[in-house]
Amino acid sequence: MFRSVLVANRGEIARRIFRTARRLGIETVAVCSDADLDAAHVRDADRAVRIGPAAAAESYLSIPDLVAAALESGAEAVHPGYGFLSENAAFAESVQAAGLTWIGPSPGAIRDMGLKDSARERMIAAGVAVTPGWQGDDGREATLLAAARDLGWPVLIKAAAGGGGRGIRRVDDGDGFAAALAACRREALAAFGDDRVLLERCIEAPRHIEVQVFGDAHGGLVHLFERDCTLQRRRQKVIEEAPAPGMTDEVRAAVCAAALAAARAVDYVGAGTVEFIADARDGLRADRIWFMEMNTRLQVEHPVTEAVTGVDLVEWQFRVAAGEPLPLSQDQIALDGWALEARLCAEVPERGFIPSIGRLEHLRLPEGVRIDSGVEAGDEVGPHYDSLIAKLIAWAPTREGATEALAEACAGVETWPLQTNAAFLAKCLDDPDFLAGRIDTDFIEARMDRLAAPAGPSPDLARAAAEALGALAAEGASAPSAGLAGFRLNAPPRTTVRLWCDGQPLVAHLDGEDVEADLLDTGEGLVLFESGTAFRFTADPPDPEVGAGGGGDGAVVAPLPGRVVAVPVAEGTRVARGDVLVVIEAMKMEHGLTAPFDGVVEGLSAAVGDQVREGEALARVRSEAS
Ligand code: ADP
Ligand code: ADP
Ligand code: MG
Repeated sequence: MFRSVLVANRGEIARRIFRTARRLGIETVAVCSDADLDAAHVRDADRAVRIGPAAAAESYLSIPDLVAAALESGAEAVHPGYGFLSENAAFAESVQAAGLTWIGPSPGAIRDMGLKDSARERMIAAGVAVTPGWQGDDGREATLLAAARDLGWPVLIKAAAGGGGRGIRRVDDGDGFAAALAACRREALAAFGDDRVLLERCIEAPRHIEVQVFGDAHGGLVHLFERDCTLQRRRQKVIEEAPAPGMTDEVRAAVCAAALAAARAVDYVGAGTVEFIADARDGLRADRIWFMEMNTRLQVEHPVTEAVTGVDLVEWQFRVAAGEPLPLSQDQIALDGWALEARLCAEVPERGFIPSIGRLEHLRLPEGVRIDSGVEAGDEVGPHYDSLIAKLIAWAPTREGATEALAEACAGVETWPLQTNAAFLAKCLDDPDFLAGRIDTDFIEARMDRLAAPAGPSPDLARAAAEALGALAAEGASAPSAGLAGFRLNAPPRTTVRLWCDGQPLVAHLDGEDVEADLLDTGEGLVLFESGTAFRFTADPPDPEVGAGGGGDGAVVAPLPGRVVAVPVAEGTRVARGDVLVVIEAMKMEHGLTAPFDGVVEGLSAAVGDQVREGEALARVRSEAS
């Protein structure tokens, strides 16, 4: 076994890999960009090497700098984590050429599976059923359109080099094809530097089922059963579980055998995931599940597999990379119980999941579940990388038990002043259809209004807030206020109190049971947490907001720093409320900035390629009504 490992990554995955390394007595080396000099993964490691500026292209994606860092630090092995360069064959080759151990599959296997079109061809040759589709070298629009017509609408256009759900466009008929193709190519070029595409028939009401596989350098190859990653938003996984609900022994045997055949076809060594799409309208069936792609790396959701098999997949990665055989044979790997994972992101569901960036002054993550987190209280969530701050993983003997535990854990998340999707996750897990296993990849979108709706505080929480504000006022810690007159000494307490929650007036009723709630005195009101949401209570009304860029004046403002990737309107274009005016890319996602009301576009200052600051006005909509 090597004595030291450099993790060419950041955040929760770097920390998770360090944990196993430490347990095995392997020395840990972190790398960091200037934005991460004091990040949690740097603090966790035995040593850290600065590799470059905040921009990922010049740091976490810089092959020469990463290899130099490994050599300089004396690390004997390199683990790429997921994302970044984890599926980059040139990086694997550079690591090996420098005489270091690459913790991942061979560069050849990465290449074979890296492009979705060539992977499909290999799988067809290996006899694995692939999603009905088209791949080829002739990228002319007419050729693609004809191929799409042959497949039958709706089709998906996918980036051959795609990943993370990026680039994929659904097209329902010939009319929308050209625009969708252009959009897919644009996003693919920006994200992957490669605008080649392929087509797949769009499976209706599908489920995403994937199989964890593991190979060693001695010809050993096993699977560790399936995961279900059907709960997605914009084709990105939100909640994952193992095993898959409704899975039968027959379908499991078929899909695991297909995954092994796929891995065997590329002589796979290390941890990998074979992703399938299932037409689950009549439940899971062996003849309605097709190969979609293979991810030649550790997967974000690997912890659910660890929870139901008892295997530490990172330990296996280390052992296999060091030349050891797989620690267990297929018949020694068994499923035990049920596990679910929720991805906790710093984002605001009720505002279109816009990332919430800044300093995480308060962070409390629940106990009793596994937490893989990338940050601690006081850390910065910056605009440079993705918004995943932690993964919460619950295990129980039954799906019901694990779901309940995870929902409770999500509801117990506390963050301030950054917001998260915790309440949204808890609502997904509480949904009766989810509990019954009635899911498809449209589950979230179909319930978006309810899942992303902003919640108000419960009457109990309002009462707790009123009492706490009153106690503060009585202590003289805050100036006494008219709103809290109910707490005046010598006067019989009133039963109702008027207060403000996030700028909205509220009446609290003071009779009732005592409630327990965590609270935070921010100096500008008290923050109380409930069901994964933070509520800020004040005794007085907030100052009237001036020109907050909230759209009331028609201003379209960049909500976070990013790069302009599309401007589908021009000066003078007539737009309707909700139309996308400018698309910016930030934190590995595209965010459409929309018209606040119907009107005409004016003062358009954004152009494709521009770098924009948070709060920068990019355009204005002038209402024609006024
Ligand atoms: P996995 O296949 O490991 O489950 P995904 O396919 O969901 O992971 O994501 C692949 C890559 O896309 C990840 O490495 C991650 O960095 C990135 N990614 C996933 N979700 C998001 C997101 N919400 N925003 C930005 N990037 C994301
Ligand atoms: P990525 O590399 O970006 O992860 P995938 O090919 O794995 O791309 O697809 C991402 C997601 O898009 C899937 O998990 C699924 O929800 C959806 N999807 C992909 N292919 C199809 C298809 N043929 N029909 C329906 N949905 C699909
Ligand atoms: Mg995928």
